[in-house]
Amino acid sequence: LMGQMMSQPLLISSIIQHADRYFGRNEIVSRRVEGDLHRYTYSDCHRRARKLANALGALGVGMGERVATLAWNGYRHMEAYYAVSGSGAVLHTINPRLHPELIAYIANHAEDQYLLFDICFLPLVEAVAPLAKTIKGYIALCDPELMPPDSKLPNLLCYEALLEHSPDDYSWPLFDENSASSLCYTSGTTGNPKGALYSHRSTVLHSLASIMPDTMNISGRDAVLPVVPMFHVNAWGLPYAVPITGAKMVFPGPALDGKSVYELFEQEQVTISAGVPTVWLGLLNYMEQNQLKFSSFKRTIIGGSACPPAMMQALRHRYGVEVVHAWGMTEMSPLGTSCCLQTRHLSLPAEQQELLLQKQGHVIYGVDMKIVDDAGEELPWDGETYGNLLVKGPWVIDTYFKNEGGVVLQDGWFATGDVATIDADGYMQITDRSKDVIKSGGEWISSIDLENIVMAHPAVQMAACIGIFHPKWDERPLLVVVRKPGMEVDSAQLIKFFEGKVAKWWTPDDVTFVDALPLGATGKLLKNKLREQFKEYVLP
Ligand code: ADP
Repeated sequence: LMGQMMSQPLLISSIIQHADRYFGRNEIVSRRVEGDLHRYTYSDCHRRARKLANALGALGVGMGERVATLAWNGYRHMEAYYAVSGSGAVLHTINPRLHPELIAYIANHAEDQYLLFDICFLPLVEAVAPLAKTIKGYIALCDPELMPPDSKLPNLLCYEALLEHSPDDYSWPLFDENSASSLCYTSGTTGNPKGALYSHRSTVLHSLASIMPDTMNISGRDAVLPVVPMFHVNAWGLPYAVPITGAKMVFPGPALDGKSVYELFEQEQVTISAGVPTVWLGLLNYMEQNQLKFSSFKRTIIGGSACPPAMMQALRHRYGVEVVHAWGMTEMSPLGTSCCLQTRHLSLPAEQQELLLQKQGHVIYGVDMKIVDDAGEELPWDGETYGNLLVKGPWVIDTYFKNEGGVVLQDGWFATGDVATIDADGYMQITDRSKDVIKSGGEWISSIDLENIVMAHPAVQMAACIGIFHPKWDERPLLVVVRKPGMEVDSAQLIKFFEGKVAKWWTPDDVTFVDALPLGATGKLLKNKLREQFKEYVLP
C-alpha cells in the first residue's frame, strides 16, 4: 500500500522560491571584493538568480553540465548557487588558494563549461585558462566599468552586463531530485583531488538537518555569517540552509582578518557563525589586543579540524559565545556530528560537561556511524576503544565523480580515514586522521590530544604534533610550536607542561619552534608537509 501524499522532488530551486515568497524582504549583506558593503533582499537574490539562469541557458549550458566558480562569499556567488543548480546544471566551486595547475586539473576533470570569477582572481584565471581544455567562456563577477580592458581571456563576459540583458521571467524546471546539483573536490593531501558530486535531494536533506537545534540551531531571528568559504564544501551548506529559515545572511567577502570580521559582526549584529579553528585565532587575537567584546554574537560552529579546548574556553568564558564542535568531510556534504549536551548531562559537574563538549559529538539524524578494527570487526562504544570510523547516510557519497578510486564503500559504509572513539551515549571523538596517528612501539598516540594540551599553554599560539622515526619505537612524537608574539617559552618548559596530563610514554620527546606552520587551502594544518620538513630530524 502506497502513501497518498504529493510526490514533490526536493530541489534546490524550491529553497530560493520559498525564501522569496515568505522572507522576501529579509536581507543579504555582503562585503564586496570592491571593498564596499552591498545590501539587498532574498527577493532581489531570487530575481537575479532567474536572470542568471536565463543567461546560462542562452549561453547553451545544459542539464548536468558543470559551471565553475572561483569566488569569495558574496551575493553574486549565492546567485550562482541557485541559478546553476536550479536550472539543472552543476555548480562546481573551486578553491582559489590552489595552484593554477591544480585548478586546471580539477576544471578539466570536471569538464567545466564556464567559469565565473571574482575580478580579484583575474591573474589566477589568466594562468589557468591556457591549461583549461573545456571552458568555453569566462564570466567576471563585476560591473562593466571594472572589466579588464586588455585581458587575453577567451570569451570574457561581464556578469552584470549579462544580467542586465537577461529577462527575469524564468520557471525553475522540475526534474528528478537525485539529479546532480553540485561538485566539490577534496583537497587531496595524497594523490589527485577527487570529486564529491552532490544531488538536489542530498543537499536539501542536509540543509534541513543542519538547521536543527542540536546542529547549527538557526532560526528566523538570526543573522548568520559564514566565515567558512563558499568554496569549502559549500560553506558547510549555509547558503542553502539559511534561506530556509529566513535568517539574515551576512557575507564577509575576502576580508577574513580579525579586524574586518569583528567589525562586520558588530555592524550587522551577527548571531551565528561557522569556520575552521585557524580563522578564530585571528579574531580572538585581535579582540584580546583591543580589549573588545561581542554585542550580538551567541553561537559558533567550529570544525574542519579539532577545535583546541583552550579556544573553546576563551570563546565561552571570556566572550560568552557558545561553541558547537562539529565534524564532517567533503564526502559528507559535510556535516556528520555536532556536540551538544542532553538533559542527562545537565547535572554533571561543569568540568565534565566541558570534556564532553570537546568531543566531535553526536550524529545528526540521517547519518549512522561505527568504529571497526583493521579486519572490519565492529568495536565497542566505551569511549576508550578507538578504531576506523565508518559512516553512511543520504548525504554521504557512494562513489567519487567519474568513479575515481573505484569502489569506496565497505559493505555499504564509507571509510572516513579518521580514527575515533564512541562512548556509551554515542558521542564520537576523533583521535586522529589515520595517516597522522603516531605509532610508538605498536601502540597509538593521539596527535590531537597532545596538541590540545599544549595549546592551553599561555605562550603557545599554534602547535602540531608529528611522528618522527625512532630506531627503537618506530615513531616518537615531536611537537612543532609557534610561540605567541612577544612570549618566551622553551622546550623543557613545554615538556614539563605535559606532566600529569598524559601517560608518561605519550609525552613528546622534543619540542621545536617555528615562525609559522604550513596551512592548506582550507586553513588546515598540512601535516604531510611538516613531516617532510622534519624528515631528517634527530630526536634527543
Ligand atoms: P580534506 O580531506 O580535503 O581536508 P575535508 O575538509 O572534507 O577535506 O576534511 C575532512 C577531515 O577533516 C575529516 O576526515 C577529519 O579528519 C577532519 N575534521 C573535520 N572536522 C574535524 C573536527 N571537528 N575534529 C577533528 N578533525 C576534523
